[in-house]
Amino acid sequence: MRSHARVVVIGGGNMGAAVLYHLAHEGWTDCLLIEKAELTSGATWHAAGLVSRMIGDHALGYCHDYAVELYKRIEAETGQAVSWHDCGSLRVAASEGHRDWLMHTRDVVCGRGQECHWLEPAEVKRLNPLYDTSAIIGALYTPDDGHVDPSGTCQAMAKGARRLGAQVIRRNRVLDVRPRPSGEWEVVSEAGSVVAEHVVNAGGYHARQIGAFVGLALPIVPLQHHYVVTDAVPEFADMDHEIPVTRDDYFTGYVRREQAGALIGLYDTPTRWRGGPTVAPGSRRTNSSSRISTASRRGSSAASRGIPASRTEALSGSSTAPSLTRPMARPWLGRHRASATTGSPAAPRLASPGGRAWENISRSGWSTARPRSQCAASTPAVSEPGRTAPTPTPVRARTT
Ligand SMILES: Cc1cc2nc3c(=O)[nH]c(=O)nc-3n(C[C@H](O)[C@H](O)[C@H](O)COP(=O)(O)OP(=O)(O)OC[C@H]3O[C@@H](n4cnc5c(N)ncnc54)[C@H](O)[C@@H]3O)c2cc1C
Repeated sequence: MRSHARVVVIGGGNMGAAVLYHLAHEGWTDCLLIEKAELTSGATWHAAGLVSRMIGDHALGYCHDYAVELYKRIEAETGQAVSWHDCGSLRVAASEGHRDWLMHTRDVVCGRGQECHWLEPAEVKRLNPLYDTSAIIGALYTPDDGHVDPSGTCQAMAKGARRLGAQVIRRNRVLDVRPRPSGEWEVVSEAGSVVAEHVVNAGGYHARQIGAFVGLALPIVPLQHHYVVTDAVPEFADMDHEIPVTRDDYFTGYVRREQAGALIGLYDTPTRWRGGPTVAPGSRRTNSSSRISTASRRGSSAASRGIPASRTEALSGSSTAPSLTRPMARPWLGRHRASATTGSPAAPRLASPGGRAWENISRSGWSTARPRSQCAASTPAVSEPGRTAPTPTPVRARTT
């Protein structure tokens, strides 16, 4: 294994691959991604792949808009199929309060220059004839949404990064990350050590363990997330369009077409992962099987009120996997700065007062710097060498 890289990214899921890809496009090609198993072995492999512009938050919305554009073009750039389906999406409302909230979202989406419409039930029925619209007053519609094959996007970004000179090493677990007196980091892996100027923790539901290598307590919790797949839905065969991804907050889930059947995602059982706050380091792909869990049956039974095609006797398979949950359910990004004074791996790294601090930068429009003891942390975390962090000064939160 090489001895030095400008950046080492730990984790080859969609986030790690995206970091490597975008660094390479910025000219940072002396970068290395290390994945303990295969690319897309973690939550990425399980994702239903929904990508939506229906985001009522300006900053996060721009990220989603960018993702749609990226997934549309990356197949042509890399030759790797990502299976983009531009079917649009619907989110139904059954009360005036819910419509108010959706109208706020619509204004934010339109404010970003994207297309978004309020539809009456008859129009919802036209787009998704399977949906029982009798209990709804309408739906928000974003026609330029869709879904992708998430393992395809991950492979495509890794391929794009490799083409520009970045490197990916698979089947190599990172065992530790140690600060060096130079301010750099030693990333210790099964295949040897590499010294890096920056380390990106993109370990997904293992990010908590990776954070612990440098003494960080990342407040992220793995929850179970399910989806089920139905047998072939006969009505799909005669349809001249793909139904929009339909989100229904009343069964707290979503449905989209999956080949000849339907895929139904369920949020109504936010069960903590059975291993507690961490997922065992050895865990790879989790539970994807033809055995339908009780929770999945309950959820899809609820879904069948809105989508008759999801009746439980027609379920053919399910996927249950840990999915990360962060404070406020937002993506959090932040830097963890090394102290130039801490060089010994044996040193209690976060115990030296003033030696380290967090700087959290949320993409959703506010930033704060706080001592670790007070701070909700972030992932992925980017370490920065060679600097002793100043005493953190709280910055007043700005909400959008
Ligand atoms: C059932 C399900 C459905 C979902 N549906 C959607 C959806 O429709 N739309 C959406 O946007 N999101 C969806 N998600 C969420 C989405 O899957 C995740 O947010 C996303 O995949 C996280 O990507 P990641 O790269 O952060 O993590 P992961 O994909 O988990 O990648 C982390 C990688 O780090 C590696 N790793 C961990 N520890 C080490 C180590 N010590 N050394 C080296 N490598 C290590 C792991 O092997 C893994 O490959 C869904 C999730 C689930 C479970």
